[in-house]
Amino acid sequence: MAILPTAAPAQEPIDFSAFRDPKLAHELIERIHSLVGERSLNLMEVCGTHTMSIGRYGFRSVMPAGLHLLSGPGCPVCVTANQDIDHIIALARLDTVTIATFGDMMRVPGSTSSLAAEKAAGHDVRIVYSPLDAIRLAEEHPERSVVFAGVGFETTTPTIAACILEAATRGLRNFSVFSAHKMTPPALRAIADDPETRIDGFILPGHVSTITGLEPYQFLVGDYGIPGVVTGFEPVDILESIVLLAEMALSGTPRIQNAYRRGVADAGNPVARKLVDQVFAVCDATWRGLGTLPASGLAIREEYAAFDARHRFSVEVQPAQEPRGCRCGDVLRGAITPHGCPLFGRTCTPEHPVGPCMVSSEGSCAAYFRYHE
Ligand code: SF4
Repeated sequence: MAILPTAAPAQEPIDFSAFRDPKLAHELIERIHSLVGERSLNLMEVCGTHTMSIGRYGFRSVMPAGLHLLSGPGCPVCVTANQDIDHIIALARLDTVTIATFGDMMRVPGSTSSLAAEKAAGHDVRIVYSPLDAIRLAEEHPERSVVFAGVGFETTTPTIAACILEAATRGLRNFSVFSAHKMTPPALRAIADDPETRIDGFILPGHVSTITGLEPYQFLVGDYGIPGVVTGFEPVDILESIVLLAEMALSGTPRIQNAYRRGVADAGNPVARKLVDQVFAVCDATWRGLGTLPASGLAIREEYAAFDARHRFSVEVQPAQEPRGCRCGDVLRGAITPHGCPLFGRTCTPEHPVGPCMVSSEGSCAAYFRYHE
């Protein structure tokens, strides 16, 4: 079967020779075409690494015309609400505080500033590569209060929990975490409930599922009849997940399947979950694009309040404002693709990003721009 590109002509044709198993990739794409034919199917991935892989390998250009690969709320920086970014910026302005953050957060615009702008204005904001670096920073600078900007999903939280326990063991009094951590399943429920989007299947996140396992996704089948497939990041992993989702969605036999057994155990990682549970309690959280979702965030438990930057520092944070014209919220819930934002590629580019989806290395707008989708 000839596979015709359906995306913008500017995109490079797929270089199958770069794939580990080009023959299998070809077969899987043909299988997708024969399964879907002229029918319409909306599949959503909810992992920033999948977003980049789908863009990098150009998969949208070889899908059947009716099969849409939508990007959901899988980029942790992108889903962080402006009110949380503003709060971290307010902390950065305190004379005694050093903010330690992953690099992706630096250029994310809050309502009126960014961490990069605050650093340029002379405030102490440092990029770290692990929360352990933030602990080291606190030990080296006892005169400073080091606040780690805790942003991320289930993959990140066990490490943060371990760091808080480590700080407690070391008796570190000048280290704390600003927790804006979030959990993936409540966001999937919000998207399944959204009357403006129709999702026929979810490509479920490989990294997150190493911690959660499959059980937290079962509600998709029970409550909504939507299938899900946990998958890895190789080209054939993603293509296989599309085949499985198309088979289940089109035959009306939804299940949650694990197609990433080399990385994910069905039961996840109970030790990591126990660690998280020791330090964090489930709380409501505000997501960009999805609003406040019940029981979707993680707050530091009261017994570790000494390490909770929200508890330790009192700062005034003005009501958040969204970047004018930015449609990141709609992009994150799959209501539009980045092309639906009038600023895409015009006033909003990776060099001059307006919204977080163009800033983050895992953002949908950045992926569409970078790979000419
Ligand atoms: Fe926001 Fe820029 Fe994406 Fe538009 S193109 S949604 S302004 S990040």
